[in-house]
Amino acid sequence: MSKLYFFFGTMGAGKSAYAINKAYEFRERNLEVMLALPKSLKVGYIDSRSGLKLDAIPLPERIPENIDILIVDESQFLSEQEVKNIRNFCKNEKSAFCYGLRTDFSGNLFEGSKFLFALSDSIREIPSMCKICKKKSIFNFRNSDNKNTICLDKDIYEPLCFECYSKKCC
Ligand SMILES: [Zn+2]
Repeated sequence: MSKLYFFFGTMGAGKSAYAINKAYEFRERNLEVMLALPKSLKVGYIDSRSGLKLDAIPLPERIPENIDILIVDESQFLSEQEVKNIRNFCKNEKSAFCYGLRTDFSGNLFEGSKFLFALSDSIREIPSMCKICKKKSIFNFRNSDNKNTICLDKDIYEPLCFECYSKKCC
């Protein structure tokens, strides 16, 4: 069955570990898996805070015919066109699993996430706790003056619930 899945969560929810584990799961079943990242990132691997790491390639415009399963991490940074290419790939028994953040540090939807919310067959949250009060986190607070939206330094982000985020930002 072909499906486009979008798994979203805050920083530190374990998205990359889930992505890597999915790759192992499908490779053990002898399926052809492509592990990819948005082209804009220019990073050649996926690593998780728990220490898992696998090589990944920049998402190609056309996904080769022999690929059964596409797994994309940091998918919040996908462009509209990249999401549409992934959507197009998901037919004839081929599926894609995309992992990413819902919103940036200002609480705005990322472009990739916006189109994944719109076009995915299945949308699931990977929940995580607020760093301060342990309620569910939905924001990524950034402890830095760096205003660049694409910043992969995971240590400067704090997953926070709405109440704790409001206290820090106002
Ligand atoms: Zn909180």
